[in-house]
Amino acid sequence: MAAAEPDTDQLSSPGSEFLNFSAKDTASRWLAAADLQQEVYRHLAAYVPRILCLGPSSSGGSSREGQREEQREEQREELAYQLLLLAPLEWLLLREEPAAGLAQLQENNRPSPLCGHVFKVGEPTYSCRECAADPTCVLCMQCFLGSVHKEHRYRMTTSGGGGFCDCGDAEAWKRGPYCQKHTPTDRHTEEDPVAQLPADMVARGYSIFSIILKYAVDLLTCDQEEQLPAGLEPPERGDTYYCMLFNDEVHTYEQVIYTLQKAVNCSQKEAVSFATMVDRDGRKSVRYGDFQFCDQAKSVIVRNTSRQSKPLRVQVMHSSVVAHQCFALKALSWMGQIIQYSDGLRRILCQVGLQNGPEGENSSLVDRLMLNDSKMWKGARNIYHQLLMNSLLMDLKYKKIFAIQFAKNYRRLQTDFMEDDHERVVSVTSLSVQLFTVPTMARMLMVEQNLMTTIIRTFVDHLRHRDLQGRFQFDRYTAQQAFKFGRVQSLIGDLKYVLITRPSEWTNQLRLKFLEGLDAFLDLLKCMQGMDPVVRQVGQHIEMEPEWEAAFTLQMKLTHIISMIQEWCSTDEHVLIDAYRKCLSALSQCHCGLPDGEQPISLSLAGHTVDTFRYQVSQDKVSIHLPVCRLLAGLHVLLSRTELSSRVPEQLPLGELSPPLLIELPLRCLVLCAQVHAGMWRRNGFSLINQIYYYHNVKCRVEMFDKDIIMLQAGASMMDPNHFLMIVLSRFELFNIFNSADVRKRYREANKDVVQQNNTLIEEMLHLIIMVVGERYVAGVGQVEPFDEVRREIIHQLSIRPMAHSELVKALPENGNKETGLEGVIDIVASFKKPGVTGRGLYELRPEWNKNFNLYFHHYSRADQSKAEEAQRKLRRQKGEDTALPPPLPPPLCPLFGSLVNLLQCDVLLSVEGAVLQWAVESSGGGWTESMLQRVLHLVAMSLLEEQQQLENNRDDDVTFNYTYKITREAPSPSGSVLALLETLQKAPQLEVHKDMITWIIKMVANIKTMREQTASTSTVSVCPGHGAEETVRDRDKAERKRKAEMARLRREKIMAQMSEMQKHFINENKELFQQSLEELEASTSAAAETSATGLGPTCVTQVCVGPRRVGRAEHRQLVTCILCQEEQEVRGHSRAMVLAAFVQRSTVLSKNRRHIVPDPERQEPLFMHPDLSLGIHTASCGHIMHAICWQRYFEAVQLKEQRRQQRLRGHTSYDVENGEFLCPLCECLSNTVIPLLPHSPDHRCTHSLSLPVSVNHPTLEAWLNTTNQQIATLHSAHRKQSDGTAEEAEPAGEAEPAAPEGFRVDFTPQSPFSSSIREMITTFSVSTYKVGLKLNPNEQDPRVPVLSWSTCAYTIQSIERLLMEEEKPLFGSLPCRQDDCLSSLTRFSSACWTVAPLKTVHTHFIRLFTALFPDSQVENTPCILDTDMFHLLVYSVLSYSSVQSLDQSGCSVVDSAHLHLLHLVTVAHLVQILLTSTTEEVCMDQDSEGSEEEILTCQLYNTLRKHLGSVLPQVSSGWQLWRCVKAGILPFLRATALFFHYLNSTAPPADLLVAGPGHWEALCSFLSLPSNLLQVHQNQHTLLEPLIYRWCCHPGVRQTLQGGGVIVRFPRESNRLIELPEDYSVLINQASSFTCPRSGGDKSRAPTLCLVCGSMLCSQSYCCQTEVEGEDVGACTAHTFTCGAGVGLFLRVRESQVLFVAGKTKGSFYPPPYLDDYGETDQGLKRGNPLHLCQERYRKIERLWRQHGIAEVIGHAQEANQTLVAIDWQHL
Ligand SMILES: [Zn+2]
Ligand SMILES: [Zn+2]
Ligand SMILES: [Zn+2]
Ligand SMILES: [Zn+2]
Ligand SMILES: [Zn+2]
Ligand SMILES: [Zn+2]
Ligand SMILES: [Zn+2]
Repeated sequence: MAAAEPDTDQLSSPGSEFLNFSAKDTASRWLAAADLQQEVYRHLAAYVPRILCLGPSSSGGSSREGQREEQREEQREELAYQLLLLAPLEWLLLREEPAAGLAQLQENNRPSPLCGHVFKVGEPTYSCRECAADPTCVLCMQCFLGSVHKEHRYRMTTSGGGGFCDCGDAEAWKRGPYCQKHTPTDRHTEEDPVAQLPADMVARGYSIFSIILKYAVDLLTCDQEEQLPAGLEPPERGDTYYCMLFNDEVHTYEQVIYTLQKAVNCSQKEAVSFATMVDRDGRKSVRYGDFQFCDQAKSVIVRNTSRQSKPLRVQVMHSSVVAHQCFALKALSWMGQIIQYSDGLRRILCQVGLQNGPEGENSSLVDRLMLNDSKMWKGARNIYHQLLMNSLLMDLKYKKIFAIQFAKNYRRLQTDFMEDDHERVVSVTSLSVQLFTVPTMARMLMVEQNLMTTIIRTFVDHLRHRDLQGRFQFDRYTAQQAFKFGRVQSLIGDLKYVLITRPSEWTNQLRLKFLEGLDAFLDLLKCMQGMDPVVRQVGQHIEMEPEWEAAFTLQMKLTHIISMIQEWCSTDEHVLIDAYRKCLSALSQCHCGLPDGEQPISLSLAGHTVDTFRYQVSQDKVSIHLPVCRLLAGLHVLLSRTELSSRVPEQLPLGELSPPLLIELPLRCLVLCAQVHAGMWRRNGFSLINQIYYYHNVKCRVEMFDKDIIMLQAGASMMDPNHFLMIVLSRFELFNIFNSADVRKRYREANKDVVQQNNTLIEEMLHLIIMVVGERYVAGVGQVEPFDEVRREIIHQLSIRPMAHSELVKALPENGNKETGLEGVIDIVASFKKPGVTGRGLYELRPEWNKNFNLYFHHYSRADQSKAEEAQRKLRRQKGEDTALPPPLPPPLCPLFGSLVNLLQCDVLLSVEGAVLQWAVESSGGGWTESMLQRVLHLVAMSLLEEQQQLENNRDDDVTFNYTYKITREAPSPSGSVLALLETLQKAPQLEVHKDMITWIIKMVANIKTMREQTASTSTVSVCPGHGAEETVRDRDKAERKRKAEMARLRREKIMAQMSEMQKHFINENKELFQQSLEELEASTSAAAETSATGLGPTCVTQVCVGPRRVGRAEHRQLVTCILCQEEQEVRGHSRAMVLAAFVQRSTVLSKNRRHIVPDPERQEPLFMHPDLSLGIHTASCGHIMHAICWQRYFEAVQLKEQRRQQRLRGHTSYDVENGEFLCPLCECLSNTVIPLLPHSPDHRCTHSLSLPVSVNHPTLEAWLNTTNQQIATLHSAHRKQSDGTAEEAEPAGEAEPAAPEGFRVDFTPQSPFSSSIREMITTFSVSTYKVGLKLNPNEQDPRVPVLSWSTCAYTIQSIERLLMEEEKPLFGSLPCRQDDCLSSLTRFSSACWTVAPLKTVHTHFIRLFTALFPDSQVENTPCILDTDMFHLLVYSVLSYSSVQSLDQSGCSVVDSAHLHLLHLVTVAHLVQILLTSTTEEVCMDQDSEGSEEEILTCQLYNTLRKHLGSVLPQVSSGWQLWRCVKAGILPFLRATALFFHYLNSTAPPADLLVAGPGHWEALCSFLSLPSNLLQVHQNQHTLLEPLIYRWCCHPGVRQTLQGGGVIVRFPRESNRLIELPEDYSVLINQASSFTCPRSGGDKSRAPTLCLVCGSMLCSQSYCCQTEVEGEDVGACTAHTFTCGAGVGLFLRVRESQVLFVAGKTKGSFYPPPYLDDYGETDQGLKRGNPLHLCQERYRKIERLWRQHGIAEVIGHAQEANQTLVAIDWQHL
């Protein structure tokens, strides 16, 4: 290997020379020198290569020692750099100790009020929607909180990095530009900040900044790999090189990693680290050594990556060059820091940077940096951009100069950027947002640098794909072109910045430049006009879907620009008129060639004739892209809004217009839509469907569909309405159908498809006429304000159904400021309904707005329309109104559009209306539809409304509109006038739906007649239709409505009868099912029923659940039904096993010690649970019961299915079959085992117990202890004998056989009370708990198996006790029946599980457990009392005792007594435990003069403990305090114990514990057969217990723990909660933005994720933080769940505002976050940016899920519901 061994002695250690170095002296020497630059360069040339970039440290990377060495190396380098390079510069500048000098500078500084805080990635930014000049004006969190805007409507987003806070910039804010901190004070002056600095410092500043900045620029912009600028050559030049790898956006991470492993022979880990660095910094040296060594690596890399694409960029660079570049970057950062101290120095740096060099134009240092931007690597760019932001952009004067330079070089910078493959954020072009969004600056650049034109021309230049006519053509463009096209779009963004604020004042210069820009823009639009034309495909389907997205992307991006240009025009009449002219001439250029060649055709209908083109949409080329027409339409509307249009319309430039030409192209486009709708373009594929979709879509329609309608309106208002309609008919290719009866007849008889097509076309055409006449909610068309337009949109959205805020926002077009105007309107038209714990808030239309509903609202899709129609009809029926949906009153038209109304009464339309009505009357065959009729009725109604309005507003003789006259007039057709036709139709039975509408029309005609007559005779005020109608009309109406109501009633009754018939049938068919569900209902209430039954019994018998006095439940046959075979069976010990689907999981929900490290499972000793409950096993069940055999068959089937599935396709299911998981066959609840159902425990008591006195039956504690000790001794010796293997031989001589108690037979083998199938299921469940609890492979022989079964019983009871406590529910009777069933079967199971384990094993367990209570020096490893959870101890010893007792053949069982004694012993132990850990020092203020008995006894016990342990326990004087402590501490234990014995002994609970509320102490104690003064338990057996207590205290562990040597758990253990979350979501975002990845030194984490259980922030979904867990690489979240949540985790993904649930390695799901905006909606993905606030109820709901151990279940259900969730690699999050 040719690696050069770096000469460490010489290079890396700061030698003696370094130590003697004095920065101060050096600085003085420099100052004295004649040529400062030369001196500084000499210094840098000597030191830089010796300090920086010395190659990798000798010991190599991966080992821990190596890493530490590397760190030390870095520290040394940093120190040397500070001392030898920076310090002299600082001395030179400040002439004093740098720290002091900088402080001085800062003190004297008068900072500008600009905040300028530069945003980190992910940091929250705020924009005020009321005051910001545009959406790019943002505040940092600090400033926002101190500003007036926090009370306004604001938007919150997370920064993508870069950009800075605009606080203090008066131009950015309409109001409140300063926060509290940045409000200018008297200290701010307009004075030049440089003047505030001492003159000598100014001079030094100039020279230092010029030298260093020039140095940095020289080094960063030179592309030399070998040579350094003059004066910097190193004194000695070694053969040391770097192989430098550069970033590109072409190669993937994986490619780079793979290549590096090959090329430089490094480990996968190192390669990952290299790749990460390259991606982050833009370059990274991957090899260090002599030239040949590096060059070799280079060629391997190049060779390996050049196959498919251009190779990775690699350079072999001399180490001194790299060192100097490294220092150049550090120097830039240094200057950036220095100028923060002084605005004066900042300005000096700005001057230095912008001063032109000797080469003149574009030679300033900043220019050189800018122009070389695309050549630099990412890290360098970031640093100098940062410097630009800190300097030039913070100084308003130089910002302007910089902006000019930027604008001058704009074209070149953009071109460089196009060639560069880096993202835009690291390109200098991204600074445009900082410059162009300042309105005065933008204006200045527009006027002086012609910026608008420059941007547009640059844009056009870069779009090179054109067709022969010069139009854009994007078909078949390559990926490379697509990429460039993507880049080019950023130019549109710049244009948007420039145009975003309309000028309030125009200068002639501005007019000139704007119009010049408009020319350029029109050139652009001309290239778009007619692009992507389509031709109808007939016969064959198109072969390839044509490209359409690029053109639409362009249109979409330009939408806002087009709107903005119109807004600009609207502010100045001259500009508007000029713009109109320009646009018109552009359009005529586009139109030339349109009417060419062919002869026009002549059309005549209803006595009118018109000439038009010979053109058919269905045969010729047609394009959707008509931006020039549409811009003209927009400008036309603006003209109409000006005063000019009403004052001097002749001055409008309308003369050159040819209306038929204007409407031609938009009309073609609309006809295309109609034909697509009619199915005529099916063979043109999806691309056309998509285009039509976007044409109407809210993102495009403002500058597409809407403008086309306006253009038709403009054209129609300038034409003879008959001509207009004839052209429309002809373009729809329907002219002949209306013109000639023969043609129509032929059509009707044609094939069905053609008939249907024509029907749809007629419908679409009628709809178009409705829109052209009726759509007046555009200011300028109708006399409305923009406000009315938004309001109308909302009314129509809400007419479909109530909607959430975000849905409404999505349905409205956004303007360039991302505003829709929704907020200003919504509260007027809608009422808000708050959401519950799920769902979202909804807006509902206020009823008074229903009258504004227009069925033919132009933005409805067909689906919307039918939904809205249905909803509106329903509403009217509910209110008992008729169901006619007449058009609402339209607003009046503007003068320019005034003649539009004549369309309604023109002859051609009347003839069309007459024709449709005629067909309806004839109603034969297919050539007619109800939709057609409905549209005609709508048109008729519109005409009548128009006439009525005119009559109301004018004198009769002024009213030119006379529709009623025309429709009553006799027509040539045989069936008479339109009115006559309508009257005929009213009686037609098949048109029931439209009857109300026809009635409405006829009534209206009558009204208008009355009005005319009245005005003619008396000229009184008019009357509206409802009131003016004659009495008879009203009566007829009433009768009609009544008849209808009656009919409706009959119909309903009939339907009801049908339904009940069906139901009966259904029940008969599904009898079993119904019965079963009834039974389930009964079962679920059974617990409550039973308890109330016992409550009725003799009240003197208090309920006791444990001990000889316990009251058992009456024998109760338990009948259950298998959900699989529906067979019913009784639960009995000897019958077939029945099982309950169950899910066993590890749990840390109750953990008091999350740092607990789980020991190696092989050596884990689960017999004693530590009171920190750090890891438990939880069992849950959905409560569904199956035969064991049915379940086994089901599970086998699931396994088989899974095997087959895996063979077919790879992937996961929501459950892991290999791990025994399955879904409950009934409810699909995730399960992984089954619990066997066992009968009620047999009564242990002797049958004759009642006849014997209690004393005989119930041995005293002492007697029982003696017996038990004897039994234990007997067992001991028996075990010993067995293990000695000498059991058969005679007794050993030395040891006396302990006397076995009477009837105790060691060799007895008790008979199992269970059938083999039940025994098998007991084993199954035991092994499951073992497998899950210890994460081991199943092993029935392991002695720990029964322990884990007991453990899950105890833990599950404990966790449910906590839940009930937290939710303040009563201890009994409030559990849902699935949990009740689960606990009951779980407890019974655990009491029986010993029967399948070897007796010896269980005996050994009991002996060890017993020793914990009754310490025996012979038994080792007994834990100390502080390390034992007493409830677990109690449960285990009670359950294991049965095995000992089973050997007792004395015939008189003492099991119950034993339970009671065990309970007493454990209770005392727990009391001692609580007292030992109670810390009651805090308050001693109370009266302990006369304590109660409890208090005295507590004090006594405490003092006993103090006697044993001395000063380890603090002195406590207050018995009251202690007793209170004890009482609170022991309560959870007592409650859990009560639950346990309740389920174990099937005792009914006492009535007091069935209700919620505090103070059940007495009831609880008596239920447990304990005195309510618990201390009496101790007191009564004082002599017996005293030595025990002594022995407990003497365990060395006690003293050790109390002195701080272990985890002290205090009682009561507080229930764990999820972490507190801040009310305001942005606080979290802020927190996350300062979070850095813990692995990659200070890097920002991309997906910061918060653990809701412990509050840790994690770097999720990222390579850097992957760790290996159980042999697999997993992401930070998954890894964290293994330490924090035993495999289950709840997280909040902060950037996404999304809750993440993870379980195990493969399962996860997302869950709605507990944060809502003011509209009651979550914002998953943080896309909308409304302020989010914590919703406590929702958070509590998530918390409850967690506490109930329901996370895994939720994930299971989510994955079942949504299969795509299954495919996500959750373990990588
Ligand atoms: Zn700020
Ligand atoms: Zn501020
Ligand atoms: Zn504001
Ligand atoms: Zn069954
Ligand atoms: Zn189930
Ligand atoms: Zn955690
Ligand atoms: Zn990380």
